[in-house]
Amino acid sequence: NLSDKLDKALHVLKGHGQITEINVAETLKEVRRALLDADVNFKTAKEFTNRVKEKALGQNVLTTLQPGQLMVKIVKDELTSLMGGDAAGIDLSGNPSVILMSGLQGSGKTTFSGKLAGFLKNKKTKKPLLVACDVYRPAAIDQLHVVGEQLEVDVYSDRENNNPVAIAKAAIAHAKTNGHNVVIVDTAGRLAVDEQMMTEIANIHKAIKPNETLFVVDSMTGQDAVNTAKAFNDVLNFDGVILTKLDGDTRGGAALSIKSVVNKPIKFIGTGEKMDAMDVFYPSRMADRILGMGDVVSLVERAQEQFDEEEARKLQKKIAKNQFGFDDFLNQIQQIKKMGSMKDLIGMIPGAGKALKDVDVDDDAFKGIEAIIFSMTPEERTTPSVLNASRKKRIAKGSGTSIQEVNQLLKQFTQMSKMMKMMQGGGGRKMMQMMNS
Ligand code: GDP
Ligand code: MG
Repeated sequence: NLSDKLDKALHVLKGHGQITEINVAETLKEVRRALLDADVNFKTAKEFTNRVKEKALGQNVLTTLQPGQLMVKIVKDELTSLMGGDAAGIDLSGNPSVILMSGLQGSGKTTFSGKLAGFLKNKKTKKPLLVACDVYRPAAIDQLHVVGEQLEVDVYSDRENNNPVAIAKAAIAHAKTNGHNVVIVDTAGRLAVDEQMMTEIANIHKAIKPNETLFVVDSMTGQDAVNTAKAFNDVLNFDGVILTKLDGDTRGGAALSIKSVVNKPIKFIGTGEKMDAMDVFYPSRMADRILGMGDVVSLVERAQEQFDEEEARKLQKKIAKNQFGFDDFLNQIQQIKKMGSMKDLIGMIPGAGKALKDVDVDDDAFKGIEAIIFSMTPEERTTPSVLNASRKKRIAKGSGTSIQEVNQLLKQFTQMSKMMKMMQGGGGRKMMQMMNS
């Protein structure tokens, strides 16, 4: 599903290695592919990755201490705004306020009608009335009555009448005389979009002029959900979308593509068969879900806890002034060790991923390095260029390592310093060139 694919796309950013020009471009390509695979149309997906790219460049992703984290945040923010930014409410201004449900059979209209009635009833100031306008199946009327009894919400139905328009109008009149200030009209759906269903729902819509017309869609239906949404929107110009069955193995793509194709907010989600299994739709939470944030976010949070921001700023200054020394290197290693799972996290330190890539990353791997640095004098740590043959020999002896090991560390350190320098300097511009090529 989309979550897995985005997860994979962001894999390189999650500590698999440090961010480089190549894997930023590669990541964006993967993100786009994941969106396309999840039925987001090409234009939307391309616009999405372009916006992410622009932001990444604007914020100089490569020069921050936690580029992976920043990229994840940018992708998340963009997903959030693609799905509608802030959570959208429903219009309850009428008296009664009329809410019309639309959607295919099995999408969850009747269930959601009940859920919404229960949700509003809990607000105390609302006295909802459920209306059974699915006249084709007697079982559908029974179903709504069962729901109503369960919630202790009144249900209006008329088994003698097979005209849903007349039933809906009579129900509104009934609501007015019985003090119901919200009327929720449940309608019949078909298994696929057809003329008759569309004509019927359009007629009901025209007759009762709802405050709020909601389109209910099963989130498991993928690209079909988008086509159905478009068909209903063409006829009803509905106000919002209800995304049901998000408790299942859903494709996050439905939420993304519906919003991008019909440009209507998703207002509520259904998360189970029970009457309280609903929630207001929060775009940012959905973005978390799509990104498989359980994983990404916890990693990012762990890193955030450990990296002292002040430290980070100091370090960046040092890098800029070419003053990065072995003490800083040691400090970084100790930071990494604090974090626990080092394989995941080492890449979050700029340069460390590549510089230490030959080292099998576990705590022991650092023992030699630490010992070598501990054997250096303060001068040697801040000014590694003073390290001549006799000093190296002394250090190797003192740390219980060999001259080769000391040389190897020096080489890695030099590479790392160079790389850090590069990322501070022209890194951003270089990335721009890569991305635009
Ligand atoms: P309608 O034909 O549009 O009225 O759809 P129903 O409300 O009758 O729902 C069809 C089936 O989907 C029923 O078995 C519901 O219990 C189930 N259903 C509805 N919403 C959800 C949901 O959010 N999660 C799950 N797991 N099942 C749901
Ligand atoms: Mg139904």
